[in-house]
Amino acid sequence: METVLIVTLVLGTLAFVGWPLVRPAVSPRSQGKKELEALESEKEVVYAALKDLELDHRMGKIDAKDYGELKDRYRLKALTLLEQIDRTTQKRGLVDEQVMDAIDNHRGEARFCAQCGTPRGAGDHFCRICGAELAAIVTS
Ligand SMILES: [Zn+2]
Repeated sequence: METVLIVTLVLGTLAFVGWPLVRPAVSPRSQGKKELEALESEKEVVYAALKDLELDHRMGKIDAKDYGELKDRYRLKALTLLEQIDRTTQKRGLVDEQVMDAIDNHRGEARFCAQCGTPRGAGDHFCRICGAELAAIVTS
């Protein structure tokens, strides 16, 4: 049991120390993702603290006044984090949409048939209505 604990600690420390060296370059998109992950893990910490507090209170390790104060503080922190997570998620959704639009524009991909104006389906190479060839997809 102790060995497992030590191995876990060592691996955790190594991962923590080594991660900045091996992680890929940060793009704005993964920045948002990282922000979200940081918020999520902070939320886990606050939830764990709340649980510990609850346990300490039930075991009589902490008096009612301190318990009430700490609980309020942790709850407020958890609420703030949840709000931040919400906002970050919405912001990411918006960014993703903008990125997709930018990619479409960059590709100059025809989204409609030049002959008859029929909307192009995903992966279509020929118009579904008139059969005209659609502009090739540029993937570079
Ligand atoms: Zn057509």
